Formats: sequence, C-alpha cells, structure tokens
Amino acid sequence: MRVLVVEDDEGIAAGLQAHLRQLGWAVDLSDSVAMAWAALRAEPFDLVLLDLGLRDGDGTTLLGRLRAAPEGLPAPDTPVLIMTARDQVASRIAALDMGADDYVTKPFDPDELAARMRALRRRAAGRAQPVLAFGPLRVDPAARTVLLDGQPVVLSAREFGVLLALAEVRPRVLSRAQIEAKLYNWDQALDSNAVEVHVHHLRRKLGDGVIRTLRGVGYFIPEDSA
Ligand code: CA
Repeated sequence: MRVLVVEDDEGIAAGLQAHLRQLGWAVDLSDSVAMAWAALRAEPFDLVLLDLGLRDGDGTTLLGRLRAAPEGLPAPDTPVLIMTARDQVASRIAALDMGADDYVTKPFDPDELAARMRALRRRAAGRAQPVLAFGPLRVDPAARTVLLDGQPVVLSAREFGVLLALAEVRPRVLSRAQIEAKLYNWDQALDSNAVEVHVHHLRRKLGDGVIRTLRGVGYFIPEDSA
C-alpha cells in the first residue's frame, strides 16, 4: 500500500513514516496543502493520512479538492483518514461530512492507526473479510503472513507487497509501474527489473499458477488460481 502522510509536525511525520514503513508500506511525506496536492496529482496513492492544521492552510481544503477532482489523478475516492487534536471536534465533524473516511485523535497509538488503515483498504476494495483466501493461498495483511495449503511461506517484505497488491484487485491486471508505485517511495532507488525479480521469486515459492503474466500489460491473479 502506498500512503501519503500530510503533516507539518516533523517529529510526528517522521515517526509515522518509520512505523508504517516497518509494516511494509511505501510512505511519502508532504507538509503543506500545496505539496500534498502536487503529490496526489503525480502519483497514485492508496490512502491519505491528513492533518487538519497545515502550514499553508487547513487540511479540509485538500480534502475538498480531492473529493471534487475528476476521475484520474488524483483519484477522487482515495480513502482519507484525518489526524486531529482532541479538542477539534467541530473540524472533525466537518471533515467527516466533507468525505473523510475515519479519524484518529492525537496522540494516537500507531498500531491502532495501522489497523484503521487496513480497514479502510478493505472497505475501498469492497471486502469485509480481513484475510484474502483464494485457491490454496491465504494472505493475511495484518499479520503479513501467507499460508500455502496450510503451510506458512516465508516471503520478503517486497514479495509480500507484490502478492498483496495483486490479491487485492484480483483478477484485475496491474502493470509493472502500478505495482512499483505501491512498493516504493519517491526517495527509493529502483532497479528496472525489480518487480520481475519479485514475481520470479513468488512463483518459485508459491508455484507457477498463482501469478500470471499478461504479455506487454502486466500481472494478475486469475479467479481460478491454484
Ligand atoms: Ca499541524
């Protein structure tokens, strides 16, 4: 999952980035409405964590702009989770009514935040079940575990990220660029064949049938994956 953190408190932003990266997510930081808007127009994000008091304005300005955007980049239905102070009840209500999906009040527990983020991802994907089960595989996004025929499979963080990205949209095809965008931040160097290498390793560990190639387009997990 690719996350945009919009927060002007450097300490909070850095702490969040470190914590969420440990969970295997790609996290980019913006400290203003203007920078966040530019980021959302440039890259596809799966979720936005939004502080309301930013250096150049209110986070709800960004939220309003996002929800009013035409289809494309930014995606107007990107889930938004707001981060507010305990006494900002009115702003919180306003943000929820403007299209924010959930909120946490500062100071918050980062593990609770991560669980809320996973819940938003499920909802955005139209799922209620926390574990993705298909064919002989069970993929658990919270525990970051994979079972193949009931047996645990050890995957690297990137391999897990590729598998989860494809499983979440199954049976839709994701291009290599779309998968890369979910795995890597702006500041991470990227080998041109990184995704191919991860897919190669996944096929070795899970069998050839799970991830299919649509030549010239990308990768997908078919409905009847086995
Ligand atoms: Ca702030």
